[in-house]
Amino acid sequence: MKTVEMKPKSRSISSPDNGRAASKLSEASFPELLHEVLLRIGEDPSRDGLQRTPERMEKALKFLTKGHSENPEEILRGAMFDVDYDEMVIVRDIEMFSLCEHHLLPFIGKVHVAYIPNGKVIGLSKLPRLVDVFARRLQVQERLTTQIAETIQKAINPQGVGVVVEARHLCMMMRGVEKQHSSAVTSSMLGCFRQEQETREEFLSLIRARTANGF
Ligand SMILES: [Zn+2]
Repeated sequence: MKTVEMKPKSRSISSPDNGRAASKLSEASFPELLHEVLLRIGEDPSRDGLQRTPERMEKALKFLTKGHSENPEEILRGAMFDVDYDEMVIVRDIEMFSLCEHHLLPFIGKVHVAYIPNGKVIGLSKLPRLVDVFARRLQVQERLTTQIAETIQKAINPQGVGVVVEARHLCMMMRGVEKQHSSAVTSSMLGCFRQEQETREEFLSLIRARTANGF
């Protein structure tokens, strides 16, 4: 039986050696791959504390990215109600935990969601669920923000939607950028939140009132 050389002789993708190495990788189980990662960072995967770490990492990674296989529209289905109310609905300080797609390190923070209904509202408990669906993916904060806003816009066609995300990125905090206390703020404003300064300012001042002594 011929052994497969793991180190390809050529960098070309079409090289037969590379092809064999790739197929060998795809046959490896998830814990086997993570076992290899531990070796590559100079660890001893057989020592006590690490024995079940590849299995735990697999479980954690799958949980933290399960939003990829969840459908946000399905979550909102059955939770939309007809109402006469046409004032601002606002849910502040929704806890958010996500993974940055550049480093697979967490970014964590708070999401504030507001909209002005146009005949329909979303059950309040569904907004944190919606945040989770998009946060449990490999993300960038900007995209997370617009995906939440656009999904609400599409689901109930309100007069407008505003979403603000404030987050701290561990890839900045842990990797020596030394911006330990800075947080990134992103916003997405649709409809009347974009067109009317008064609406936007009402939303922003309601958020600020709380976050000045909080986050
Ligand atoms: Zn990052």
